[in-house]
Amino acid sequence: MSEMANVEVVSRQCTPVCCSCSEVLLAEDDPGYRRIIQRSLETWGYRVTTARDGVQAWQIIQQHHAPHLLILDWMMPGIEGPELCRRVRGREKGPCSYILLVTAKDGTDDVIQGLEAGADDYITKPCDIGELRARVGVGQRVLKLQNELIGAQEELRFAATHDSLTGLWNHVAIFDLLGRELRRMSRYRTSMGVLMVDIDHFKKVNDTYGHPNGDVVLKEVARRVGQGVRSYDLVGRYGGEEFIVLLSDCHLEEIRKGGERVRLAVAATPIKVSGTEINVTVSVGAASSSDADSQQDLLARADVALYRAKEKGRDRLEIVIGTGA
Ligand code: GH3
Ligand code: MG
Ligand code: MG
Ligand code: MG
Repeated sequence: MSEMANVEVVSRQCTPVCCSCSEVLLAEDDPGYRRIIQRSLETWGYRVTTARDGVQAWQIIQQHHAPHLLILDWMMPGIEGPELCRRVRGREKGPCSYILLVTAKDGTDDVIQGLEAGADDYITKPCDIGELRARVGVGQRVLKLQNELIGAQEELRFAATHDSLTGLWNHVAIFDLLGRELRRMSRYRTSMGVLMVDIDHFKKVNDTYGHPNGDVVLKEVARRVGQGVRSYDLVGRYGGEEFIVLLSDCHLEEIRKGGERVRLAVAATPIKVSGTEINVTVSVGAASSSDADSQQDLLARADVALYRAKEKGRDRLEIVIGTGA
């Protein structure tokens, strides 16, 4: 869960006109041959970037949005195909490229050498154009499958770390993020705040308007809490109708202001539900961190503050100060 903060999911499902799977890098030093293959690829619907030798191919491969489908000639000036394969495999951390090696060498030893260098497949020169089409198609299929797997993996990761009703970080995730933020604050010798935000008399909303309408209110409150904080603050659903906000690199006055902004954002206008307008408020318990705080320490102080806010009449902010604030 330690890298979850970087997980913001964008679905990367492949469509039939899959953008990244249709982009090809063709590295071939023979201009005539290069032109013929390029034209054929374009006729089949691929977008082709060409390289006239291995050095240019390597430059393109290292660019941020380089094609993942690589057709590499074996013998090229500068850097030869197998060496390019090794370099590509050596730098791969995420999604893999699919490499089709084009070679005049068709001895078993050569084939083994090419595949062991990192090629996925090879085609012998002069190549049959139908065979080339089929083999490039295999590469495209493999890349599409890879994209679908990445998309599915990201969706799973999102589902494991987010609350399905509100889309906010879930309980486990926000707790882990709090631990990470506390360590970060300690490293930078600064402090942070935690807001515990609880909807006032929410049971009454459910009882009066029904549970589904209660869900609508919950979602809207979640949205308003998110609107009330800075874009880089972290917001999670901690439990039923309770939210947690992490205000990194904040001291007392900023924490107080942050909490007030959240409270006012929720109460600003009534929430419309099934043709009715409901006045919804939240109570906010705020705590500021001190050096030796664990997640539990900080949350416990925010909880005490929230309890006080409820006791003092709700729709208000209370703050409990850490010793280092
Ligand atoms: P207080 O001001 O003291 O916080 O009062 P409250 O009524 O908000 O607090 P209480 O803890 O008594 O009730 C919380 C309610 O939140 C009870 C529970 O049914 C409801 N709740 C929890 N999760 C959900 C949810 O996902 N959807 C809906 N609609 N209601 C939920
Ligand atoms: Mg060549
Ligand atoms: Mg409540
Ligand atoms: Mg509650």
